[in-house]
Amino acid sequence: MSEGLTLSANIQHLETSATVAISAEAKRRRAAGEDVIDLGAGEPDFATPAIPAEAGIKAIRDGKTRYPANEGILELRAAAAKHLSLLSGGRPVNADRIVVSTGSKQALFNACFTLFGPGDAVAIPAPAWVSYPQIVHFARGRPVLVPGDPEWGLKVGVRDLERMVPAPKGLILCSPCNPTGSVYTHAELKAIAQWARERQIWVIGDEIYRRIHYGTGPAPSFLDLPDDLLDRVVIITGVSKTYAMTGWRIGFSLAPTPVAKAIAAFQSHTTTGANHMAQWAAAAALGDERVDQDVLRMTAEFRRRRDLVVERFRRDLTGVEFVEPHGAFYFFFRVDSFGGITGTAFCTRLITEKGVALVPGAAFGDDRWVRLSYAAATAEIQKALDRLVGFAKAL
Ligand code: PMP
Ligand code: GLU
Repeated sequence: MSEGLTLSANIQHLETSATVAISAEAKRRRAAGEDVIDLGAGEPDFATPAIPAEAGIKAIRDGKTRYPANEGILELRAAAAKHLSLLSGGRPVNADRIVVSTGSKQALFNACFTLFGPGDAVAIPAPAWVSYPQIVHFARGRPVLVPGDPEWGLKVGVRDLERMVPAPKGLILCSPCNPTGSVYTHAELKAIAQWARERQIWVIGDEIYRRIHYGTGPAPSFLDLPDDLLDRVVIITGVSKTYAMTGWRIGFSLAPTPVAKAIAAFQSHTTTGANHMAQWAAAAALGDERVDQDVLRMTAEFRRRRDLVVERFRRDLTGVEFVEPHGAFYFFFRVDSFGGITGTAFCTRLITEKGVALVPGAAFGDDRWVRLSYAAATAEIQKALDRLVGFAKAL
């Protein structure tokens, strides 16, 4: 940087998102004519289902092209409230506590910026999605990675969190988890919520992958817990993953009323509100029961791909440690057993020598591991696995 061009301390920790950067690198190599398979991106390869897509087009035609309400259009907040209620056995969910944002990424940022301030410690179970520590830094908070238990799908429990003395101001928990695919059980979520309530810790539950779950029904949620455990819980979700709507940029927070109000006021000065027509598309995704068939179809396909990856590793890379995924669309495996190679070196060599893009564990706080995203066409996954197995065996 030129001398004198000092940027603000607000961004002193800023790095480009590694997950986004790897996808961009794969695209760049492809455009340059290289044969590259991208299993880096955490983005469904499916088209947005027809019903929300058409609703978005209709919204444009109907003139939903003006500023939306800061907190989001009522129709979408009502559809989201009803949807979340149905997913959690019909429990009441108040639409007034939902704020629509520009993707769940912004919903996470809003929540952190609203709840945390200078020096506040925020516990983040690790490995963790790359953006959490960055977002906490933007709020001038202090991300504290809490290593998950390798014997337990790299999840954390109350015992791990209790080691943080003094107790943190907040916790960001992702389930189903990016990058591991682990899913917290109802009992585990309850124990963590109890621990947090006793210590007056804010919990941000990132449940964006909740419906991409390979057990029965949606994955367990903080919303399945009784009201008295939810006083300091903010739930984050969105349409990007479940409905293959990453580019529409619609996410939500469900928060206690004063927090929801603060988030809406904050948005009134930052974005005004999320893209208006995309909100109508999202309302159709959540509100039209027929779209459920699309969700089931896509989730079934993710499950088949997960099985394919797991079986291939079991068969051809015996002894390689991995987390068995129960949700989301990621497969997290350990590479240091291949002669002590780091995740970063593994991924750099794999893309250069074999044309397969994966994300090094360094992006998630542990470079002994590598993340493979199976949100890609089955034939591509198969081809990538052939290359990956050949590469790893030769190491
Ligand atoms: N949380 C997690 C765990 C994610 O993997 C992603 C994917 N980018 C997001 C939040 C953000 O998703 P979006 O902004 O598209 O809703
Ligand atoms: N969440 C996805 C991933 O982890 C998309 C990229 C991003 O926003 O980080 O790959």
